[in-house]
Amino acid sequence: MSDPRIDLAGLELFELEEVLEARAIDRFRARQLYRWIHKHGVTDSEHMTDLSRALRARVASEFDILTPTIVADDQSVDGTRKLVLELADARRIESVFIPDTPAMTFCISTQVGCAMACGFCLTGKMGLVRNLTAGEIAGQVRVLAAVTNLLDRPFNIVLMGMGEPLHNYDNTMKALRILYSAHGLAVPPRRVTLSTVGIVPGLERLAREVVMPNLAISLHATTDQQRTALVPPNRKYPLADILDACRTFPLRKRSRMTFEYVLLEEVNDTPADARRLVALVGGLRAKVNLIALNPAPGIPFGRPSDDRVDSFARILADRHITVSVRKSRGRDIRAACGQLIVEGGTRRSAAQQIALLMR
Ligand code: SAH
Repeated sequence: MSDPRIDLAGLELFELEEVLEARAIDRFRARQLYRWIHKHGVTDSEHMTDLSRALRARVASEFDILTPTIVADDQSVDGTRKLVLELADARRIESVFIPDTPAMTFCISTQVGCAMACGFCLTGKMGLVRNLTAGEIAGQVRVLAAVTNLLDRPFNIVLMGMGEPLHNYDNTMKALRILYSAHGLAVPPRRVTLSTVGIVPGLERLAREVVMPNLAISLHATTDQQRTALVPPNRKYPLADILDACRTFPLRKRSRMTFEYVLLEEVNDTPADARRLVALVGGLRAKVNLIALNPAPGIPFGRPSDDRVDSFARILADRHITVSVRKSRGRDIRAACGQLIVEGGTRRSAAQQIALLMR
């Protein structure tokens, strides 16, 4: 028994069927199992009441059905909830519930840490610890839906937690297929948004997927020089290449892609930046989502005033760019964009980390 146990929660339905068949278990049991795990959030086989006792015992003894466990659950004054989740190897990630945006939204992670090292993001300071498995990515949604009583209600999913989804492409796409499945949570793809720094080969692969989430590109700068300083992967995948990939990206009818733009005071928030942004995204079926920086210890940028944000937005709107300003949610519990960081397995020592957070 050197093989690690299979985690049934990380399998698509057809894989689950194959796994059961290989062990001489009727393949139609796969649908029942899948429904218990993903639709009802039940992972203890003892409670899978339409399975025989013998099968329940086999499931328990032969397989894992992993679910991230909640080690902290903080609620913001604005209703945002941040869960710290622990994985089977004791690594931790964060997942956020943002109510009334106007929809209910789950913000989930795709990696422990992140390799992109964006200058304004705390997760980037951690470096990449490891990729999440498909089961761990989809499992966050199960956990969030269960604690918010939304298993049977519609919600949106944004892949805007820790990590870069296109840097963990296969597991992320598999997790989405698990979530889309009619036998599971049946999340409609149009309710899912994948946010990326713009890894061009990943965008090209994504463009060929049969079922596709909405796309958000974290732009944040309008010249390659500045973008490379803020978003290091830009060195390899410069603005022109990203925008080319966007131009040919297949969009759903009536849908648009989003460009996210974090406003950093006196850095990328001037009228000249706004006009360059118009020139860059003008011809695209796109909208711009502005986010005033959520400041954090160790992040060497300032948050622009509401007036500065408004003037920037107005320049875009006056030139017929659809623009929205993202409200920061959950800042009091460090759940807002760019504030997700967990201890353990980071590049910094724990002491350094704490010093950083206390500053
Ligand atoms: N790696 C992906 C997914 C993470 S999304 C991506 O970068 O798109 C996280 C979003 O929050 C991105 O748009 C990111 O730029 C933004 N963000 C990161 N740090 C922030 C901060 N300190 N304040 C506001 N937004 C931030």
